[in-house]
Amino acid sequence: SQASRVTHETSPSKDDVPVHGLSEVIVGVLGGGQLGRMLCQAASQMAIKVMVLDPLENCPASALSYHHMVGSFDDSATVREFAKRCDVLTVEIEHVDVATMEMLEQQGVDCQPKASTIRIIQDKYLQKVHFSRHAIPLPEFMQIDDLEGAKRAGELFGYPLMLKSKRLAYDGRGNAVAHNEEELSSAVAALGGFDRGLYVEKWAPFVKELAVIVARGRDNSILCYPVVETIHKENICHIVRAPANVSWDIRKHATDVAYKAVSSLEGAGVFAVELFLTGDGQILLNEVAPRPHNSGHHTIEACYTSQFEQHLRAVVGLPLGEPSMKTPAAVMYNILGEDEGEPGFILAHQLIRRALSIPGATVHWYDKPEMRKQRKMGHVTIVGPSMGDVEERLKSILKGEGSDCK
Ligand code: ATP
Ligand code: MG
Ligand code: MG
Repeated sequence: SQASRVTHETSPSKDDVPVHGLSEVIVGVLGGGQLGRMLCQAASQMAIKVMVLDPLENCPASALSYHHMVGSFDDSATVREFAKRCDVLTVEIEHVDVATMEMLEQQGVDCQPKASTIRIIQDKYLQKVHFSRHAIPLPEFMQIDDLEGAKRAGELFGYPLMLKSKRLAYDGRGNAVAHNEEELSSAVAALGGFDRGLYVEKWAPFVKELAVIVARGRDNSILCYPVVETIHKENICHIVRAPANVSWDIRKHATDVAYKAVSSLEGAGVFAVELFLTGDGQILLNEVAPRPHNSGHHTIEACYTSQFEQHLRAVVGLPLGEPSMKTPAAVMYNILGEDEGEPGFILAHQLIRRALSIPGATVHWYDKPEMRKQRKMGHVTIVGPSMGDVEERLKSILKGEGSDCK
């Protein structure tokens, strides 16, 4: 069957699938959001079959997948049923039922990256413990179990103090800043209380945020993409500049830290390493994503091999592709929901229309069924001969909406 289907009953069994595409492996992706969608786009180019598991019937990846199984990637029976139909299991989100992945792995199911990696990463505190054991530089951190503990952390690390929930964090939902001791209890409350599992991080006095996409093949070969600069607005990735405008030394240092961090994790795929650059030239690790990432969207237009194609190559065991840039400069702008519902769609469409008239700009729209404030609805990548040039083009797209491009 060529058409994608959204039913459980008619899902193809892997034994029915004849030789196909660049790989006969059916790739099962836990999650069907925009990352899953862009994985499907890369897969279609190589005729690789991608099945997605996502609870939303009209999730972004649904229409582009070989098959969409409607169900939760956090439900054991569903994940087990899904795994039966795939040759290799991967993720586009780390908040999956990792205990089931571990069990499946023991039964011989091929998970890439390994369940051990997902387990470490899905709990940010565990992730910090893991990386500090591997001598990766990070902001100091400490688990907090009650207000007394939070106060002790404040005395130790000073203010502002970053409070984070250990699990289920994304787009800054799961972070709260306390500027002084008095704000601790409201920050804890904003994160849902101590029962949610909280920890604190010392404030990282960064001058820039950097990110490196690192790919590892099944043969353990590792390739790093050029370092990029990420600009966050209210904890959400807003703009990515590639390459990062930092010295060769800093680029080398950032790449080394990213390489070392990924080397400490198991399995094939792409990994995104988020980093802080401090005023005195230190690189501190913020977090790692075990999957394609927002800081690598520009690779679709700007690099010889996109992060999505790279992830597929890695998990099915094809040779990794060249990660370097094929254009001097690229900027990626996230289209975030500015309003709920129809008014939000109108604003986004106005921006998209402006982008479509700009040379070198490519529009990606994720086709999310609902528009919500601050939700990632799509992105625009602009490639060109210099960073100054692509920034100018981005400004002209943003003109008319209170240009917020720094
Ligand atoms: P993502 O969508 O990247 O998964 P997240 O919800 O996991 O985001 P973090 O990456 O932990 O959140 O933090 C989001 C942003 O908050 C960072 O990119 C950075 O701008 C800021 N931030 C996080 N930790 C610190 C810190 N210790 N000191 C200063 N700023 C921080
Ligand atoms: Mg995160
Ligand atoms: Mg992050």
